[in-house]
Amino acid sequence: CGIVGYIGTQTAKEILVSGLERLEYRGYDSAGVATISEGKLECVKAKGKLYNLREKLEHSISINDAQIGIGHTRWATHGKPEEHNAHPHLDSNLNVAVVQNGIIENYRELREELKSKGVEFSSETDTEVVPNLISQYLNDSNLSLLDAVQKTIARLEGGFAIAIIDANNPYELIVARQQAPITLGFGQGEFFCASDVTALLPYTRAVLTLENGEIARLTPLGVEIYTFAGKRVNKFPRTLDWNP
Ligand code: GLU
Repeated sequence: CGIVGYIGTQTAKEILVSGLERLEYRGYDSAGVATISEGKLECVKAKGKLYNLREKLEHSISINDAQIGIGHTRWATHGKPEEHNAHPHLDSNLNVAVVQNGIIENYRELREELKSKGVEFSSETDTEVVPNLISQYLNDSNLSLLDAVQKTIARLEGGFAIAIIDANNPYELIVARQQAPITLGFGQGEFFCASDVTALLPYTRAVLTLENGEIARLTPLGVEIYTFAGKRVNKFPRTLDWNP
């Protein structure tokens, strides 16, 4: 339902949670964040209100140092509204974290394929196939994170927006759009993504909405945009001049 992502030099945690709070009006049943600090992925989720997530985050020390992360408020479509189905979802090696809006239509086939290769699933969501496919492409084919995500997306059917981080590529945030909206935010040495521009307004007015079939690679140095087929797209942010 709601996606927020951050990469830069500030503490990601507060930006993620307050971004999710700005998306609360859309409704949700659970929420979570994943961050990377010192090469380690940390994921915290909670059923119910963001207040519950905030409480849990109080007990998580390492997350305070992280300068990259993704967050999600979930409106369940596949799998009950329980904590284990809340996003982010991780691959079974616990390196890749994914948040997703929308629906992966062909997730059952992909799940069976991954299960036959020994992947164990810990949720009933359509989302969990995504980090596991990415992880497979990263490990089996030694691809870059962007290439692994591109290969994964080529296997997905449905309408979705996704944001991805990987503990082994801790200075990259990958964002992709197929039908479900996602907007990028541009700051000074920091970049954002959100499913709704409202979440970005406290931080930047320089925004760029991804089109269907586009994938973005955000690093602390800048943003690159490609088509799903891998062709570089030259685009620039626009400046919002209205007061919300
Ligand atoms: N289909 C996903 C799920 O059920 C994402 C739902 C959403 O957009 O929040 O977990």
